[in-house]
Amino acid sequence: MDSMSGNNFDLSPELLDEIQSNIEEIIKSFPIAECNKIDVIKKINFMYSHTRYMSVTDPLTGLYNRRHYENTIEREFLRAQRYKSDLSIALLDIDFFKKINDTYGHLCGDYVLREIAYLTLENFRKTDMVFRYGGEEIVIILTETPLEKALIPIERLRKTIEKNPFYYDGNNIKITASIGIEAFNENILTPDEMLNNADKALYIAKEQGRNRVITSSAL
Ligand code: GH3
Ligand code: MG
Ligand code: MG
Repeated sequence: MDSMSGNNFDLSPELLDEIQSNIEEIIKSFPIAECNKIDVIKKINFMYSHTRYMSVTDPLTGLYNRRHYENTIEREFLRAQRYKSDLSIALLDIDFFKKINDTYGHLCGDYVLREIAYLTLENFRKTDMVFRYGGEEIVIILTETPLEKALIPIERLRKTIEKNPFYYDGNNIKITASIGIEAFNENILTPDEMLNNADKALYIAKEQGRNRVITSSAL
């Protein structure tokens, strides 16, 4: 899997929360007029929200970023282990994406990525979360969802992408994606193992001809 480049933001959301929770107290102790303090606090709060947003978001697609995926899956995995609840993840990879860049240019590739991000967000429940994992790879976390139930929206997404009219600079472009799915079970010990299984299922989807969804039961 590719790693995402150009995102070197280093403040963790946890650290930002800690700074935020202390900031008002610090400003209140400043030797400035009370009315100015309120203004300063407002500005800092705005900067905080913006920075917090940037620290969890991928700028190209607006999806959550990989760092936020790592934090979220850690938490959801522990929850599934502790409460024996259902949890599925899907790893989507756009088919022959390099060819899109090579044929129509990098900006067209960026357009396709944004469009697929939008289609993916539209396709899932509010409780499911969509992340840009790497270059042209998207991970979806489906909470409280067993494998067979995850298959339904994932297959729907695959079809939506296949049918979607991608149109760029006078060209109609056909795009498909391959998707691997894994669900939590007691034999899976870490979130990485879960993602790795989804990646193996994805690899099989590619090998079998792309534009398909494969679950970890095929492994
Ligand atoms: P496959 O069907 O096997 O997945 O083939 P592929 O061409 O999609 O796979 P490959 O991993 O060879 O190519 C991924 C391409 O994604 C290569 C890289 O240039 C492109 N890419 C990664 N990030 C971005 C991005 O932010 N914008 C654009 N336009 N292209 C990107
Ligand atoms: Mg890839
Ligand atoms: Mg690809």
